[in-house]
Formats: sequence, structure tokens, C-alpha cells
Amino acid sequence: MEYMLGVDIGTTSVKTVLYDTDGKVKGYSNNGYPLYQDTPDMNEEDPEEIFSAITEGIGEVVRKANIQSSELKGVSFSCAMHSLILLDENYKPLTRAILWGDNRSVKYADELKQSPTGMELYQKTGVPIHPMTPLSKMIWLRNEHADVFNKARWFVGIKEYVLYKLFGELKEDYSIANATGLFNIYNLDWDDQALEVAGVTKDRLPELVDTTYQLKGLHEEYAKVLGIDIDTPFIIGASDGPLANLGVNATKPGVVAVTIGTSGAVRVITDKPKTDPKARVFCYYLAKDMWVIGGPVNNGGVVFRWVRDQLCAPEKVTAEQMQIDPYDLLTDIASKIPAGSDGLIFFPFLGGERAPIWDANARGSFFGLSRTHTRAHMIRASLEGIIYNLYTVMLALEEVVGKPSSIQASGGFARSELWRQMLTDIFEQDVSIPESFESTALGAATLGMYSLGIIDSLSDVSKFVGNTVTHHPNPENFEAYRDLIPIYIRLSRSLQPEYANIAEFQRTHKTTNKNNVSHS
Ligand code: ADP
Repeated sequence: MEYMLGVDIGTTSVKTVLYDTDGKVKGYSNNGYPLYQDTPDMNEEDPEEIFSAITEGIGEVVRKANIQSSELKGVSFSCAMHSLILLDENYKPLTRAILWGDNRSVKYADELKQSPTGMELYQKTGVPIHPMTPLSKMIWLRNEHADVFNKARWFVGIKEYVLYKLFGELKEDYSIANATGLFNIYNLDWDDQALEVAGVTKDRLPELVDTTYQLKGLHEEYAKVLGIDIDTPFIIGASDGPLANLGVNATKPGVVAVTIGTSGAVRVITDKPKTDPKARVFCYYLAKDMWVIGGPVNNGGVVFRWVRDQLCAPEKVTAEQMQIDPYDLLTDIASKIPAGSDGLIFFPFLGGERAPIWDANARGSFFGLSRTHTRAHMIRASLEGIIYNLYTVMLALEEVVGKPSSIQASGGFARSELWRQMLTDIFEQDVSIPESFESTALGAATLGMYSLGIIDSLSDVSKFVGNTVTHHPNPENFEAYRDLIPIYIRLSRSLQPEYANIAEFQRTHKTTNKNNVSHS
């Protein structure tokens, strides 16, 4: 037999999946690492802790599978986008990995976004100007931590650091580079103007390579830990969003992939780079003549988690007593409420929002409450609001790439049949859910097999994704949504000017809870 390992270095854990060359899962491991958040806007992880989780994960899967080392044809990677680690001249980290969720560069990102340079850079790099990007983080570090910025010899992301440790080669694939905000999507190279704005020169960044690039000559000390032959090729791979599209078989133009995990995204593949005159969508490289255009949203499943923990504490206790998943109980309760929640609309912006409004100050709200609404309505409206927001991302995407021909969905939300049907009814389009549960790792393994010549084309992924469940729009439901969506969109526009004010109020009145009552 021949096998391929797909390693997905995610925001909270690394998922390692062993596939045979028919795409069947033969081994799996999930190894987490802690997030460091000393202040609300900080989001960091320790590069050594990530490295250990990856080597432990691979070692565990390889040993458990009990395969001959010659049977493992390759190891291929996916990685979360936008991380930044500063290294010294000995390739030792001077900082932790600063992640996409880190907001400390917001002031610099806002300034750049409002300048004509911001729009010029977006049009060349395909990345909306935002604190998530290494570009913004570099400007912030240069201004506020000049000591460490000047000391740094190299600016890299998590995957570059991990592969440097394993192979002693500092390379960065086009896809991860694309997400830094420093990469020119038209000439596949670092962009001079972006580098100047960031304050770095090309010689402080890794050498760029295609996503099919193979590394060989694994350091012996790690070969032992991993249980892998030193000659086994490692394929550098790409970033997680584009690979998720590949892993759900959304590779043809017009096939849209919708993911709702903790966060969410709507993405579609095109054969040429494309940007949006209004800068609402990203454009990321996947492989030659394959670009992923889409929008990321902060407020996916994390909002349902908030509903579970903050709005539905009693139901959570009931579910625990019944020994069922609280999410299943809540979606069951929501299923008793009609589509459209009797006119209750929820804006899910609990964590600011990226696409489509790109407003870190955005906040959530219920609109249309009446005395007849119950907690069950609020649950259903919350689930619907998350989808309305994704739908508006899709409308922005349609302006750039046209109407979708079909939709493939994935992520934790897919465990709920009700939520899947809601997506189908709100988007008013058939939605297919592939059975494969780790789409990103499958995307990485597929890219690896392509690089090694095991498959001839990336579209062979269609043989790997297995069965799919397809939902069809229900007319009774989509008619209600057709009436509500225009109200949602109009309201969304009229709420936006007030977000900065309410966020400012929340910042300045953070911990005050003064009751003007005297006790005697
Ligand atoms: P991650 O983004 O960490 O990969 P997942 O893809 O596992 O996360 O998605 C987690 C989210 O999926 C949860 O926050 C929750 O909103 C949703 N979810 C998980 N289980 C269910 C369920 N049974 N029903 C509905 N939603 C669920």
C-alpha cells in the first residue's frame, strides 16, 4: 500500500491525517497548543509548543498505523494564515507566533486602510488591509517595538519555522506568502511597495516557492521522533482556506465552499487572480492557475457557543442531565420556530467582523423583538443571523466572480441538519456536505499526491471526498427569507455608523458597574 500524510496546522491544534492513495483515512491525531492572551487584543502561540505538537502528532499517527517507512510516500502541509514570528540570525525566535486574531496593529491598519496606498496595496496583494496581516503587524512592531524589530534577521510564519527546523531550509510557499499582505499576486513575488510600507527588505524574508515544492533530507534527530525515513519528501503545501476548498472538491469555477467552524468563510476558485473594487474579498494562491477568492467571517460557530453559554444556561444543564450534546438540544428547540423567527433578526457581530463589512468595532444585536418572542426564537434567530451574514459575503463575491453554480459546505455547523437546511434556504441553492471530516488535511494530502505524481490532476480529489449529503431549498422557508434579507441588509447599513460609538463606550466604561444605591 501507499500512504500520504496531511498535516493541518490550525489556530488551536494540529490535525494529522494518514490517507491511503484512494483517499481513505487510515489514522488521525489532534494535538493542541495553548493560546497566550495577556490582553484582549493579543493572540500568540509558542513556536516550540506548536513544533512539539506537530512532531508528536506525526509520530503518533505513523506509529499507530504500523506501516513500512517505504509505504509513506510523502507528508504535505496546510497552515493557518497570517502568523508572524521574528527570528534572529541563528533562526531562533525573538517573539512568539503572533496570530491572525491579534489586533494590536489596529491603529496602523486603520491608517493604512484610509490612505490611497491601502487601496493600491489591496489591488496588488489581494489581501484587505487589516490587523490580521503580517504587513500590519510589521508596521506596529516597527513603531512600538523597534528594538525587537531591528534585531530581527528574518520574518517568517509558523510553517516556515517548523520546516526550517526539520530541514534547515527557509522557504515560503506562494499561498502563505500571499496571506502576508506583502506578496504581489500578478508577478508571484514579494511586492516592493508593500515591503517599503512594512519596513523590511526582501533579504529578510524566506525564498518563495510554489505550493508543490518538495523538501528532502529530514534532520536525523527528527526522523527518529517522527518515525519517518530521512528521504521521505515533505511537500510545503499551502494555506488552510484554499486547501479547504480543494478538500471539499470546490475546485471548479462557480462551485462555492462555505465553511462554518469557529469562524467561517465563503470561497470560490478561479483561474486568474481577481480583486474587488470595494476591497471586500481576498484573493489567495492555491496552485498554478488556481486562485481562491472569498471572504472570511469572525462570527461563525463561536456565536452559537456564546448563545449556548450565555443565553441558554438552563438548557445546557438539561442537556447535560440528558447526556446529550447541548448544541443538539438547542437546534432541536430552534427547529420548532418557523423560518424567519417570526420577524426576529440577529446581527452576529460579537467579535467585530471581517467580510463583508470589515469593521472591528461592529457589535451584535437583536432587531424586531416583540412580547411574543421566546428564547427559542432567539436561538433560531442567532443561527439564521450567522447565515445571513455569510449570505451577504456571497453577494459581494458574486459581484467579482458571478453567481455560484453549486455550494459545498463543511465545518462543525454541519453536525446540525437544521443549520444545514437554513444555509440551503437562505442561499436558496442546493448545498452538498461531503462526508470527509477534515477537508483541509485532505486538501493538503491531495496537493502532496499531485506534487509526487501519484495523481495527475488536483480535480482527482473528487474521488477522495466520499459520499455527500445534498439539501434542497424548501419553498416555505425561502419565501420568508426572501422577505427578511432586504430588511437585514438595509438595517446592517444603518447600524454601521453607530458601531464605533458603542465600541468606544464599551472600551471606556469597561469594568464600571456603579449602582447609585446606599446601604445602611
Ligand atoms: P474549529 O473551527 O475549531 O475547527 P469546528 O469546525 O469543530 O471548529 O466547529 C465548532 C463549531 O461548530 C461550534 O462552535 C458550534 O457552533 C458548531 N457545532 C458543533 N457541534 C454542533 C452541533 N451538534 N450542532 C450545531 N452546531 C455545532
